[in-house]
Amino acid sequence: MADSSPLQPPIRSICVYCGSSESTLPAYHELATRFGEALAARGLRMVYGGGSIGLMGRCAKAAHAAGGEVLGVMPRFLERREIVLDSVPHRMVDTMHERKMIMFEESDAFVVLPGGIGTLEEAVETLSWRRLDLHRKPVVFLSEDDFWAPFFTLIQHTIDAKLTPASFSDAVVNATSIEACFAALDLKVPA
Ligand code: AMP
Repeated sequence: MADSSPLQPPIRSICVYCGSSESTLPAYHELATRFGEALAARGLRMVYGGGSIGLMGRCAKAAHAAGGEVLGVMPRFLERREIVLDSVPHRMVDTMHERKMIMFEESDAFVVLPGGIGTLEEAVETLSWRRLDLHRKPVVFLSEDDFWAPFFTLIQHTIDAKLTPASFSDAVVNATSIEACFAALDLKVPA
């Protein structure tokens, strides 16, 4: 369930966490492209890790090509490995921690597309900050094949064991369509 607290500011910038893999399912690359286009269509800025590979590259290129605003945040040591996307504004930083902090500060909400360990790490850190009441920004996991179902099962497992409060499930949404994702963020398509 989306957090509809009045403390939540208007959502203008969305941080996208997603995989850097080139060899994952084409459907995931295609979802990333459509999601980038959807961000641009809604006038939302995309904040992301700054690379041009994998889902992140496809999402950023699609948002940019559709006229959307994009901000990349790239650690210098990954510049070659993740191939910084020069066509969009980006900030170069020294560490992964700096990258994550800037991505967090520049965003009003987080959307997590299919990804691997790096994506999980970023998403879980953001959720753990929510758990510590350091923010109230919405976090939505998005796939079209319920890719994130095992992750939600794991969260529920920790709730069942009373290691996470049941109320925490309100802080995180599992969306299985782009429309459901935006509905969870309570975003209207501009007229
Ligand atoms: P992956 O899901 O493993 O393909 O990683 C997706 C993105 O997460 C890549 O851009 C990685 O550089 C990034 N990433 C991995 N670990 C971290 C971390 N500890 N802090 C920030 N970004 C990370």
